[in-house]
Amino acid sequence: MKVLDETISQLTIPTPFAVGDTHVYVLKGDTLSLVDAGVKTPEAWEAFTIQLKELGYYPNDIEQIILTHHHPDHIGLVEQFPRANRIIAHENVNLWLTRNEPFFKHYENFFRDLFQSSGVPDQYQALLNKLRAPLRYAGQGEVTDVITEGDILPGHHEWSVIETKGHAQSHLSFLREQDGAFIGGDHILSHISSNPLLEPPINELDRPKPMLQYRANLEKCLALGITTVFPGHGSVFSNVEELVPLRLTKQEQRANKVLTLLKEYSQTPFQICQQIFPRQYEKQLDLTMSETIGQLDYLEAEDLISKTCEDGLLYYHAR
Ligand SMILES: [Zn+2]
Repeated sequence: MKVLDETISQLTIPTPFAVGDTHVYVLKGDTLSLVDAGVKTPEAWEAFTIQLKELGYYPNDIEQIILTHHHPDHIGLVEQFPRANRIIAHENVNLWLTRNEPFFKHYENFFRDLFQSSGVPDQYQALLNKLRAPLRYAGQGEVTDVITEGDILPGHHEWSVIETKGHAQSHLSFLREQDGAFIGGDHILSHISSNPLLEPPINELDRPKPMLQYRANLEKCLALGITTVFPGHGSVFSNVEELVPLRLTKQEQRANKVLTLLKEYSQTPFQICQQIFPRQYEKQLDLTMSETIGQLDYLEAEDLISKTCEDGLLYYHAR
């Protein structure tokens, strides 16, 4: 547990995921809020309650929950606070908290179709049945207060809401303008670059392009006067002005590798994925395909490649 200043403290909670520990924040204001809620495991709950007690609070003292995004390592413990009858988040978090069955069907169909048209062989489609497995670490509930870009955090008038889609289609960050403190969820991390992840369209017609959103929202953050980032994982950091250009350049370099491959011959997304992730693609098909399609979206937006559809298969061509 770390007291960061008189209104915000960081609690660190173990997760069973590769990402390791996750942070949640206790925010004091007109109300006592919890920002993000770790995973739903006995170990997480124990770590949380011990650190909360060090701060002088009990779970019953938490009055509302604010969420940066819908991933299981950020919403796990939402059910554990009997007095917190408000959950404040992006509207897309609600689909996950309420376990919206039609949305989950839409989600699975979307990936089935996308993988099929991307040239993923049938043998890997079984992976799609595991999409729901991480939900056992996620809590259930309902978003009571939908917030969006420019809103003020209820009960914490000095914090405003910044939309930071890319890593998730529900991602929000929170900025305290007076000193540039920034609760960044998984949008910017100091030790690893955060993954823009593919998700189905929710209110749009076409699928979102998370790599483009992520880049735009990284650039947006450069203009916010951020001095300190309180992240979802890893250490608190302040070198946003150095990190953002670094992340952007790294991504452009990765995209360049894809472009080089496409200059040899036209390929499907799956063919590209196998070449840039030869060791990971079988075990982490969803992550590696997200990354591959992200690079293709970027190259296409830069007008460096084009795509055609032949017999239901997508082929990308270097210009
Ligand atoms: Zn996440």
